[in-house]
Amino acid sequence: MVSRVIPVDPFDLVVFGGTGDLAKRKILPGLYIRFLAGQMPAESRIIGAARAELTDEGFRALVAAALSEFVAKDKQDAAVITQFLGRLHYVAIDATGEGGWPQLASLMRTGVVRAFYFSVAPTLFGDLAERLHAHDIADEHSRIVVEKPFGRDLASARALNAVLAEHFHESQIYRIDHYLGKETVQNLMAVRFANILFEPLWNAQYVDHVQITVAETVGVNGRGAYYDKSGAMRDMVQNHMMQLLCLIAMEPPYKFDPDAVRDEKLKVIRALEPVPAEDIVRGQYRGAGRKDGPEAASYLEDCGNPQSRTESYLALKVRVANWRWQGTSFYLRTGKKLRARTSEIAIIFKEAPHSIFGEDEGWKANVLAIRLQPNEGMNLTVMIKEPGPGGMRLTEVPLDMSFAEALGEEGMDIPDAYERLIMDVIRGNQTLFMRGDEVEAAWAWTDPIIEGWEARGDKPRGYDPGSSGPEDALMLLHRDGRRWREIRE
Ligand code: NAD
Repeated sequence: MVSRVIPVDPFDLVVFGGTGDLAKRKILPGLYIRFLAGQMPAESRIIGAARAELTDEGFRALVAAALSEFVAKDKQDAAVITQFLGRLHYVAIDATGEGGWPQLASLMRTGVVRAFYFSVAPTLFGDLAERLHAHDIADEHSRIVVEKPFGRDLASARALNAVLAEHFHESQIYRIDHYLGKETVQNLMAVRFANILFEPLWNAQYVDHVQITVAETVGVNGRGAYYDKSGAMRDMVQNHMMQLLCLIAMEPPYKFDPDAVRDEKLKVIRALEPVPAEDIVRGQYRGAGRKDGPEAASYLEDCGNPQSRTESYLALKVRVANWRWQGTSFYLRTGKKLRARTSEIAIIFKEAPHSIFGEDEGWKANVLAIRLQPNEGMNLTVMIKEPGPGGMRLTEVPLDMSFAEALGEEGMDIPDAYERLIMDVIRGNQTLFMRGDEVEAAWAWTDPIIEGWEARGDKPRGYDPGSSGPEDALMLLHRDGRRWREIRE
């Protein structure tokens, strides 16, 4: 099964911060792959705009090096790379001053889609928006793409929204959450809304609880000082995990349309209950007990702040106060330096109301697990009879659907989240981007939780690297008679 490639309209994409880490690792390689796939029309151009004084040639050399580092070797086609590099231009620009703007204005063409990717610090968003207008570079058809973090609390998110709204309409603003660009995440919507099997069971009557896990094996690496200002709540829960929760909990939108989908997500966020202190577990990874390398460093050493109370692990019990989910717990956990790298959503269904096979025959609840990484796929556990002559004993087997196996290698040649999302910007499709009111509602729920632990002076619990997180996180479920699914690849 080969995935279809639908070419987009010709475009000029200006990447502010085009020499930065994100541009080199994700944006430019993503664009190259779409070019290779035939999705980016040949007359499209990418214009790097950043502080460094570079010529077009200098920028092309920088991008060539980035492609050779960050594009899979089997996708590196020398002839196509040369053509792609020919589509690149560069303008040295100062977001906060006047330098470079007239040159950028003179480069822009009419009759093509104009998109502006703000891959710079959010403090520069206002300056960029203002100058794009002052120099008549953006018009009412132009689009802007903004990166995370979108604020660090409700007040700063509102301020960012206000600054962008001065020059751009909401329909022109694309707030990226790359989790929404993941194939499996979109599949979650397909599974829920294109199949009749699950919907009748998708509620508090049949779902016992939901677990969402995003586990990493790495620590904060070189980003310790930056990470220490955010922590797991701001870095992962308020945005990515919130989006996953919305896609599980939302009502069916009346159609697959950007505002219809986002309206339903917003209703979920607004229905989230405040989280009491006893339903929150925060942790910081300990050192590995070896002093022979960076692997051994504790969170406090990694972030360079021995007094830090920032969490590198967070587990929460969350409730959605509406008819569908009354009484259902959504357990969220995320952390660094955990046992395995995995992202998974698990819907744990209730037990059958009566077991005709007796209590001890191996009966368990059905679980629908959706793996985002690694090995994207879905797995539904069902009970069958244990083979053999040993009587009517039950055993659990997975109805396993690995996307790689089901769709074949070519079917799995699916775009990376950034590739997909950038093409959606050019198409003008905002379904997989966060709307301003969604982001504000998410912060409105998040702020009191953070303020609560700050006011209480809560200290994160220590946990061992390579473990499943702090002991207290186990208790969060044990006390409800449940247990976390194993963290494994
Ligand atoms: P970076 O520091 O590597 O690059 C910053 C870029 O901005 C450079 O190209 C620099 O020239 C440009 N720049 C800085 N000041 C400027 C100015 N005054 N005028 C014009 N250009 C200026 O940063 P990055 O890691 O690429 O991150 C960019 C944005 O993406 C940030 O908002 C970051 O939070 C976000 N982000 C990054 C990652 C990542 O993995 N790197 C992931 C998610 C989000």
